[in-house]
Amino acid sequence: MYRVLGKTNLRVFVVGFGGIPIRVLSIDDAVKVVRRAYELGVNFYDTARGYGDSERKIGLALKDVRENVIIATKTPSRDYDGAMRDLEKSMSELNVDYIDVWQLHNVSSFDTLERVLSSDGALQALRDARQDGKVRFIGITGHNIEVLLKAIEAYSFDTIQFPFNYIADDAKYELIPKARELNIGTIIMKPLAGGELSYPIVALRYILGHDVSVIIPGMKSISEVEENVNSIIENPTLSEEELRLIEEDKARLDKVFCRGCMYCMPCPNSIPISPLLRIQQFINRTGFSEAVLRIYERAKQTVPNCTKCLQCEEKCPYKLPITQLIQEKLAWLESQLKSSHKI
Ligand code: SF4
Ligand code: SF4
Repeated sequence: MYRVLGKTNLRVFVVGFGGIPIRVLSIDDAVKVVRRAYELGVNFYDTARGYGDSERKIGLALKDVRENVIIATKTPSRDYDGAMRDLEKSMSELNVDYIDVWQLHNVSSFDTLERVLSSDGALQALRDARQDGKVRFIGITGHNIEVLLKAIEAYSFDTIQFPFNYIADDAKYELIPKARELNIGTIIMKPLAGGELSYPIVALRYILGHDVSVIIPGMKSISEVEENVNSIIENPTLSEEELRLIEEDKARLDKVFCRGCMYCMPCPNSIPISPLLRIQQFINRTGFSEAVLRIYERAKQTVPNCTKCLQCEEKCPYKLPITQLIQEKLAWLESQLKSSHKI
Protein backbone atom coordinates (compact mmCIF):
# COMPACT_ATOMS: atom_id res chain seq x y z
CA MET A 1 0.00 0.00 0.00
CA TYR A 2 3.05 2.23 -0.15
CA ARG A 3 4.64 3.60 -3.30
CA VAL A 4 7.75 5.65 -3.96
CA LEU A 5 7.19 9.30 -4.88
CA GLY A 6 9.48 9.32 -7.89
CA LYS A 7 12.96 10.74 -7.47
CA THR A 8 12.16 12.09 -3.99
CA ASN A 9 12.45 8.48 -2.79
CA LEU A 10 9.82 9.29 -0.19
CA ARG A 11 7.64 6.32 0.71
CA VAL A 12 4.01 7.38 0.51
CA PHE A 13 0.86 5.58 1.53
CA VAL A 14 -1.19 5.42 -1.69
CA VAL A 15 -4.07 7.40 -0.23
CA GLY A 16 -2.93 10.88 0.67
CA PHE A 17 -4.93 13.72 2.19
CA GLY A 18 -6.36 16.42 -0.07
CA GLY A 19 -6.54 19.56 2.06
CA ILE A 20 -9.23 21.64 0.36
CA PRO A 21 -12.46 20.51 2.09
CA ILE A 22 -11.28 20.94 5.70
CA ARG A 23 -11.41 24.68 5.13
CA VAL A 24 -15.17 24.52 5.76
CA LEU A 25 -14.77 22.67 9.11
CA SER A 26 -14.16 24.14 12.55
CA ILE A 27 -10.56 23.89 13.74
CA ASP A 28 -11.44 21.11 16.20
CA ASP A 29 -13.28 19.02 13.61
CA ALA A 30 -10.56 19.52 11.00
CA VAL A 31 -7.87 18.43 13.44
CA LYS A 32 -9.85 15.28 14.26
CA VAL A 33 -10.27 14.38 10.58
CA VAL A 34 -6.58 14.91 9.78
CA ARG A 35 -5.55 13.03 12.87
CA ARG A 36 -7.76 10.05 11.96
CA ALA A 37 -6.06 9.92 8.59
CA TYR A 38 -2.69 9.85 10.33
CA GLU A 39 -3.81 7.03 12.64
CA LEU A 40 -4.83 4.97 9.60
CA GLY A 41 -1.41 5.32 7.99
CA VAL A 42 -1.89 8.33 5.70
CA ASN A 43 1.48 10.09 5.54
CA PHE A 44 1.10 12.54 2.60
CA TYR A 45 -0.81 15.79 3.24
CA ASP A 46 -1.43 18.24 0.43
CA THR A 47 -2.54 21.79 1.02
CA ALA A 48 -2.01 25.24 -0.54
CA ARG A 49 -1.72 28.91 0.27
CA GLY A 50 -5.03 29.35 -1.49
CA TYR A 51 -7.04 26.83 0.56
CA GLY A 52 -8.29 29.18 3.28
CA ASP A 53 -6.99 28.06 6.69
CA SER A 54 -6.21 24.51 5.55
CA GLU A 55 -2.46 24.95 6.15
CA ARG A 56 -3.02 26.07 9.72
CA LYS A 57 -5.35 23.15 10.47
CA ILE A 58 -2.99 20.57 9.00
CA GLY A 59 -0.07 22.09 10.89
CA LEU A 60 -2.00 21.95 14.16
CA ALA A 61 -3.13 18.36 13.62
CA LEU A 62 0.35 17.07 12.80
CA LYS A 63 2.61 19.21 14.95
CA ASP A 64 3.77 16.38 17.24
CA VAL A 65 4.34 13.92 14.38
CA ARG A 66 6.03 16.29 11.92
CA GLU A 67 8.94 13.96 11.20
CA ASN A 68 6.60 11.08 10.28
CA VAL A 69 4.64 12.91 7.61
CA ILE A 70 5.18 14.51 4.22
CA ILE A 71 3.68 17.97 3.92
CA ALA A 72 3.13 19.45 0.47
CA THR A 73 1.89 22.96 -0.15
CA LYS A 74 1.76 25.38 -3.07
CA THR A 75 2.35 28.96 -4.10
CA PRO A 76 -0.08 30.68 -6.48
CA SER A 77 2.50 33.42 -7.17
CA ARG A 78 4.09 33.61 -10.58
CA ASP A 79 7.01 35.87 -9.64
CA TYR A 80 10.04 35.31 -7.42
CA ASP A 81 9.25 37.80 -4.65
CA GLY A 82 5.62 36.78 -4.36
CA ALA A 83 6.56 33.11 -4.09
CA MET A 84 9.13 33.84 -1.38
CA ARG A 85 6.50 35.75 0.61
CA ASP A 86 4.13 32.80 0.19
CA LEU A 87 6.78 30.42 1.48
CA GLU A 88 7.24 32.40 4.70
CA LYS A 89 3.49 32.55 5.18
CA SER A 90 3.03 28.83 4.48
CA MET A 91 5.78 27.87 6.93
CA SER A 92 4.28 30.12 9.57
CA GLU A 93 0.73 28.80 9.02
CA LEU A 94 1.89 25.19 9.01
CA ASN A 95 4.18 25.97 11.95
CA VAL A 96 7.07 24.06 10.38
CA ASP A 97 10.70 24.91 9.66
CA TYR A 98 10.73 23.06 6.34
CA ILE A 99 8.25 21.95 3.71
CA ASP A 100 8.65 18.55 2.08
CA VAL A 101 7.17 19.34 -1.32
CA TRP A 102 6.63 22.94 -2.45
CA GLN A 103 4.68 23.26 -5.69
CA LEU A 104 3.85 25.88 -8.30
CA HIS A 105 0.06 26.00 -8.10
CA ASN A 106 -2.23 25.60 -11.09
CA VAL A 107 0.12 26.28 -13.97
CA SER A 108 -2.49 25.57 -16.62
CA SER A 109 -1.58 27.79 -19.57
CA PHE A 110 1.54 28.16 -21.68
CA ASP A 111 1.73 31.88 -20.79
CA THR A 112 1.72 31.10 -17.08
CA LEU A 113 4.34 28.42 -17.60
CA GLU A 114 6.58 30.86 -19.43
CA ARG A 115 6.17 33.38 -16.62
CA VAL A 116 7.04 30.96 -13.79
CA LEU A 117 10.05 29.61 -15.68
CA SER A 118 11.44 33.09 -16.46
CA SER A 119 14.57 34.33 -14.66
CA ASP A 120 12.56 36.31 -12.07
CA GLY A 121 9.73 33.78 -12.01
CA ALA A 122 8.45 31.64 -9.16
CA LEU A 123 10.45 28.54 -10.10
CA GLN A 124 13.67 30.28 -9.14
CA ALA A 125 12.19 30.90 -5.68
CA LEU A 126 11.46 27.18 -5.34
CA ARG A 127 15.00 26.32 -6.35
CA ASP A 128 16.55 28.83 -3.94
CA ALA A 129 14.33 27.64 -1.11
CA ARG A 130 15.46 24.08 -1.76
CA GLN A 131 19.06 25.24 -1.77
CA ASP A 132 18.48 26.98 1.60
CA GLY A 133 16.97 23.82 3.11
CA LYS A 134 13.52 25.35 3.62
CA VAL A 135 12.06 23.00 1.04
CA ARG A 136 13.10 19.43 0.31
CA PHE A 137 11.53 18.86 -3.11
CA ILE A 138 9.81 20.97 -5.74
CA GLY A 139 6.83 20.28 -7.92
CA ILE A 140 4.25 21.73 -10.25
CA THR A 141 0.48 21.34 -10.43
CA GLY A 142 -1.98 22.02 -13.23
CA HIS A 143 -5.02 20.90 -15.17
CA ASN A 144 -3.72 21.00 -18.71
CA ILE A 145 -1.83 17.90 -19.81
CA GLU A 146 0.02 19.65 -22.68
CA VAL A 147 1.28 22.41 -20.38
CA LEU A 148 2.50 19.90 -17.82
CA LEU A 149 4.25 17.86 -20.50
CA LYS A 150 6.07 20.99 -21.59
CA ALA A 151 6.87 21.86 -17.96
CA ILE A 152 8.55 18.55 -17.21
CA GLU A 153 10.53 18.77 -20.42
CA ALA A 154 11.68 22.29 -19.50
CA TYR A 155 12.67 21.56 -15.90
CA SER A 156 13.35 18.46 -13.84
CA PHE A 157 10.60 18.80 -11.24
CA ASP A 158 10.52 16.22 -8.46
CA THR A 159 6.73 15.87 -8.60
CA ILE A 160 3.76 16.77 -10.76
CA GLN A 161 0.15 16.97 -9.66
CA PHE A 162 -2.79 16.72 -12.06
CA PRO A 163 -6.40 15.51 -12.22
CA PHE A 164 -6.93 11.87 -13.13
CA ASN A 165 -10.01 9.72 -12.72
CA TYR A 166 -12.09 7.40 -14.82
CA ILE A 167 -13.94 10.20 -16.61
CA ALA A 168 -10.90 12.49 -17.07
CA ASP A 169 -8.23 9.96 -17.96
CA ASP A 170 -6.17 11.69 -20.67
CA ALA A 171 -3.07 11.66 -18.47
CA LYS A 172 -2.69 7.92 -18.93
CA TYR A 173 -1.65 8.26 -22.57
CA GLU A 174 1.42 10.50 -22.36
CA LEU A 175 1.84 12.30 -19.07
CA ILE A 176 1.93 9.34 -16.69
CA PRO A 177 4.34 7.29 -18.87
CA LYS A 178 6.56 10.37 -19.38
CA ALA A 179 6.64 11.09 -15.65
CA ARG A 180 7.56 7.48 -15.00
CA GLU A 181 10.36 7.66 -17.59
CA LEU A 182 11.74 10.80 -15.90
CA ASN A 183 11.19 9.34 -12.41
CA ILE A 184 8.90 12.21 -11.40
CA GLY A 185 6.49 11.53 -8.54
CA THR A 186 2.83 11.67 -9.64
CA ILE A 187 0.24 13.14 -7.29
CA ILE A 188 -3.35 12.64 -8.40
CA MET A 189 -5.81 15.39 -7.63
CA LYS A 190 -9.56 15.21 -8.20
CA PRO A 191 -9.60 11.40 -8.08
CA LEU A 192 -13.35 11.55 -7.51
CA ALA A 193 -13.95 14.27 -10.13
CA GLY A 194 -15.00 16.72 -7.45
CA GLY A 195 -17.75 14.41 -6.18
CA GLU A 196 -19.46 13.81 -9.53
CA LEU A 197 -18.61 10.12 -9.92
CA SER A 198 -21.24 7.59 -8.89
CA TYR A 199 -18.78 5.04 -7.52
CA PRO A 200 -16.12 6.81 -5.46
CA ILE A 201 -14.39 3.80 -3.96
CA VAL A 202 -14.26 2.03 -7.30
CA ALA A 203 -12.84 5.27 -8.71
CA LEU A 204 -9.94 5.24 -6.26
CA ARG A 205 -9.14 1.65 -7.07
CA TYR A 206 -9.31 2.41 -10.79
CA ILE A 207 -6.56 5.03 -10.37
CA LEU A 208 -4.37 2.72 -8.35
CA GLY A 209 -4.41 0.33 -11.29
CA HIS A 210 -2.20 2.91 -13.03
CA ASP A 211 1.44 3.74 -12.49
CA VAL A 212 0.96 6.75 -10.20
CA SER A 213 2.42 7.51 -6.78
CA VAL A 214 -0.34 8.87 -4.57
CA ILE A 215 -3.98 9.94 -4.83
CA ILE A 216 -5.24 12.82 -2.73
CA PRO A 217 -9.03 12.75 -2.34
CA GLY A 218 -10.36 15.71 -0.42
CA MET A 219 -11.81 14.48 2.86
CA LYS A 220 -13.87 16.34 5.41
CA SER A 221 -15.22 13.69 7.76
CA ILE A 222 -13.80 10.82 9.74
CA SER A 223 -16.14 8.40 7.96
CA GLU A 224 -14.83 9.52 4.54
CA VAL A 225 -11.27 9.00 5.70
CA GLU A 226 -12.04 5.54 7.05
CA GLU A 227 -14.02 4.52 3.98
CA ASN A 228 -11.34 5.66 1.53
CA VAL A 229 -8.43 4.12 3.37
CA ASN A 230 -10.06 0.86 4.45
CA SER A 231 -11.63 0.07 1.12
CA ILE A 232 -8.28 0.40 -0.61
CA ILE A 233 -6.55 -1.79 1.93
CA GLU A 234 -9.25 -4.44 1.92
CA ASN A 235 -9.76 -4.79 -1.78
CA PRO A 236 -7.25 -3.06 -4.05
CA THR A 237 -8.27 -4.53 -7.44
CA LEU A 238 -11.38 -4.12 -9.58
CA SER A 239 -13.87 -6.90 -10.33
CA GLU A 240 -15.56 -7.42 -13.71
CA GLU A 241 -18.76 -5.99 -12.26
CA GLU A 242 -16.94 -2.84 -11.09
CA LEU A 243 -15.36 -2.38 -14.51
CA ARG A 244 -18.86 -2.54 -15.97
CA LEU A 245 -20.11 0.09 -13.51
CA ILE A 246 -17.24 2.38 -14.53
CA GLU A 247 -18.18 2.06 -18.20
CA GLU A 248 -21.81 2.85 -17.38
CA ASP A 249 -20.87 5.91 -15.34
CA LYS A 250 -18.48 7.12 -18.04
CA ALA A 251 -21.30 6.92 -20.58
CA ARG A 252 -23.58 8.93 -18.26
CA LEU A 253 -21.00 11.68 -17.71
CA ASP A 254 -19.27 11.75 -21.06
CA LYS A 255 -21.23 14.62 -22.61
CA VAL A 256 -21.97 16.59 -19.44
CA PHE A 257 -18.78 16.47 -17.39
CA CYS A 258 -16.37 19.38 -17.81
CA ARG A 259 -12.77 18.17 -17.43
CA GLY A 260 -11.46 21.68 -16.69
CA CYS A 261 -8.92 21.64 -19.52
CA MET A 262 -9.79 25.25 -20.49
CA TYR A 263 -9.42 24.71 -24.24
CA CYS A 264 -12.80 26.41 -24.72
CA MET A 265 -11.71 29.64 -23.00
CA PRO A 266 -11.76 32.57 -23.27
CA CYS A 267 -15.33 33.21 -24.39
CA PRO A 268 -15.62 36.45 -26.39
CA ASN A 269 -18.52 37.42 -24.14
CA SER A 270 -16.57 36.67 -20.94
CA ILE A 271 -18.81 33.78 -19.91
CA PRO A 272 -16.97 31.76 -17.22
CA ILE A 273 -17.65 28.53 -19.09
CA SER A 274 -15.50 26.03 -17.25
CA PRO A 275 -16.01 27.42 -13.71
CA LEU A 276 -19.76 27.40 -14.31
CA LEU A 277 -19.82 23.87 -15.72
CA ARG A 278 -17.77 22.69 -12.74
CA ILE A 279 -19.78 24.62 -10.16
CA GLN A 280 -21.07 21.51 -8.42
CA GLN A 281 -17.47 20.43 -7.81
CA PHE A 282 -16.64 23.85 -6.32
CA ILE A 283 -19.65 23.63 -4.03
CA ASN A 284 -18.74 20.09 -2.96
CA ARG A 285 -15.27 21.32 -2.01
CA THR A 286 -15.89 24.76 -0.57
CA GLY A 287 -19.60 25.07 0.16
CA PHE A 288 -21.31 28.28 -0.94
CA SER A 289 -18.03 30.18 -0.72
CA GLU A 290 -17.27 33.69 -1.92
CA ALA A 291 -15.72 32.13 -5.04
CA VAL A 292 -18.96 30.30 -5.84
CA LEU A 293 -20.95 33.51 -5.41
CA ARG A 294 -18.52 35.37 -7.68
CA ILE A 295 -18.93 32.74 -10.40
CA TYR A 296 -22.71 33.03 -10.03
CA GLU A 297 -22.67 36.84 -10.33
CA ARG A 298 -20.47 36.73 -13.41
CA ALA A 299 -22.49 33.95 -15.02
CA LYS A 300 -25.78 35.72 -14.32
CA GLN A 301 -24.50 38.82 -16.11
CA THR A 302 -22.85 37.09 -19.06
CA VAL A 303 -24.71 33.87 -19.91
CA PRO A 304 -27.70 35.76 -21.37
CA ASN A 305 -25.22 37.38 -23.81
CA CYS A 306 -24.16 34.08 -25.36
CA THR A 307 -24.38 34.61 -29.11
CA LYS A 308 -24.12 30.88 -29.86
CA CYS A 309 -21.04 31.59 -31.93
CA LEU A 310 -20.01 28.00 -31.06
CA GLN A 311 -16.30 28.85 -30.80
CA CYS A 312 -16.26 27.10 -27.45
CA GLU A 313 -17.94 23.92 -28.64
CA GLU A 314 -15.59 23.67 -31.60
CA LYS A 315 -12.60 23.89 -29.24
CA CYS A 316 -13.89 21.46 -26.59
CA PRO A 317 -12.09 18.13 -27.12
CA TYR A 318 -14.97 16.28 -25.45
CA LYS A 319 -17.64 17.84 -27.68
CA LEU A 320 -19.71 19.05 -24.76
CA PRO A 321 -22.91 20.90 -25.75
CA ILE A 322 -21.62 23.98 -23.92
CA THR A 323 -24.28 26.47 -25.03
CA GLN A 324 -26.98 24.26 -23.56
CA LEU A 325 -25.00 23.25 -20.45
CA ILE A 326 -24.23 26.83 -19.37
CA GLN A 327 -27.96 27.63 -19.32
CA GLU A 328 -28.75 24.48 -17.36
CA LYS A 329 -25.93 25.00 -14.86
CA LEU A 330 -26.86 28.62 -14.25
CA ALA A 331 -30.49 27.64 -13.58
CA TRP A 332 -29.35 24.82 -11.28
CA LEU A 333 -26.95 27.11 -9.38
CA GLU A 334 -29.61 29.77 -8.97
CA SER A 335 -32.04 27.24 -7.50
CA GLN A 336 -29.36 25.92 -5.09
CA LEU A 337 -28.47 29.40 -3.91
CA LYS A 338 -32.13 30.33 -3.47
CA SER A 339 -33.00 27.21 -1.51
CA SER A 340 -29.98 27.84 0.74
CA HIS A 341 -31.05 31.50 1.18
CA LYS A 342 -27.78 32.73 -0.28
CA ILE A 343 -29.54 35.00 -2.74
S1 SF4 B 1 -21.15 30.01 -27.91
FE1 SF4 B 1 -21.59 31.37 -26.21
S2 SF4 B 1 -20.36 30.55 -24.54
FE2 SF4 B 1 -19.51 29.69 -26.42
S3 SF4 B 1 -17.85 31.09 -26.98
FE3 SF4 B 1 -19.72 31.75 -28.10
S4 SF4 B 1 -20.60 33.30 -26.74
FE4 SF4 B 1 -19.13 32.16 -25.50
S1 SF4 C 1 -16.05 22.78 -21.57
FE1 SF4 C 1 -14.73 21.33 -22.68
S2 SF4 C 1 -12.99 22.56 -23.34
FE2 SF4 C 1 -14.03 23.74 -21.78
S3 SF4 C 1 -12.94 23.24 -19.91
FE3 SF4 C 1 -14.70 21.87 -20.04
S4 SF4 C 1 -13.95 20.04 -21.04
FE4 SF4 C 1 -12.42 21.63 -21.39
